[in-house]
Amino acid sequence: MFNREKPYPGIFITLMCLLFMAVTGCSTSTTPQEYADNPIAQRETLTQISTIGAILDGVYDGVVTFGTLGQYGDFGIGTFEGLDGEMVGFEGSFYQLKADGIAYPVSDCMETPFACVTFFDADHQKTLPEGIDYEQLQQSLDELLPTENIFYAIRIDGTFSYMKTRSVPGQEKPYPPLVEVTKNQPTFEFEEVEGTIAGFRCPAYVSTVNVPGYHLHFLTKDKDAGGHVLNFTVREAVVYIDYTSEFLMILPGEGSDFYELDLTQSKQEDLEKAEK
Ligand SMILES: [Zn+2]
Repeated sequence: MFNREKPYPGIFITLMCLLFMAVTGCSTSTTPQEYADNPIAQRETLTQISTIGAILDGVYDGVVTFGTLGQYGDFGIGTFEGLDGEMVGFEGSFYQLKADGIAYPVSDCMETPFACVTFFDADHQKTLPEGIDYEQLQQSLDELLPTENIFYAIRIDGTFSYMKTRSVPGQEKPYPPLVEVTKNQPTFEFEEVEGTIAGFRCPAYVSTVNVPGYHLHFLTKDKDAGGHVLNFTVREAVVYIDYTSEFLMILPGEGSDFYELDLTQSKQEDLEKAEK
C-alpha cells in the first residue's frame, strides 16, 4: 500500500498516523497508561466503565480507549464518546452501531464513557424454543440461573424471525440527559435476520450503577447493522451463559464532569424510560 520509493517511509507512516488521529479525533495521549500497564483483568470479572447514573445525567466524555477496554474483556456492550451509538463486542472485536443503522468497526483509539466487558467463557448453553420473544426469554433464563445475585454474560447466536433495535445519535456539549436523547431514538426492524446478541444480566441491587436485569445488544451475522435490543422473536437460536461473580468499576478521573454530579438519588424511572 505504501510507495516503497519514498525516501523516508517511516516519516511518511508517522505523518499518516498523525493525519489519521487528526481526522478521527483520536490521541494516544488520553490513554490512561496506568490501566494499560496494569492488566488486572480476570476471566470471571465483569469490568464496567463509569456508571449508568452518570450516563443518565449526560456525562458522555470518554473515560478509557477501546484499546484499554479490550484488556478487560473480549465481549461486552456500551456506548461511545458523545453517546455516538451503541457498542457491541464479542470474540475480541468491537462494533459501533450508529444512529444511521449501520455497524462500523471500532479502532483502539476511540473512547467509551460507559461499557461493560468480560472474557466470555460459556458455563451453560441451551437451545431456545422457536417463537419465544424477549420477555419470554427473560423468564425462561431466570428459571435456569442458579441465583439472581451474580452477574451473567449472555450470548445468543441464531436466526430471529423478528428483531427490533434502537441506537442513539451522537451529542454535542452541553450534553443533554439520556432520557432527552432517547425520546428521538431511531429504531430498526429486521425480519428473518441471522446474528448475535451480546449483553448481561445484572442483579437488581446494582440499579444505581448499571442496568438491573437484562441489557442486550444485537449485531447481524454480516456485521453491518444492529443496536440496543428492544424486542425479538426467536426462529432458531442457542443461548450461552457465562456466570460472572467478580465486578470491577473504573470511574472517570479528576477533572471529569463526573466529579460534579449529585448521584445520591435513584433514577429508576429515567432508567426504565431510557433503556426499555
Ligand atoms: Zn444498550
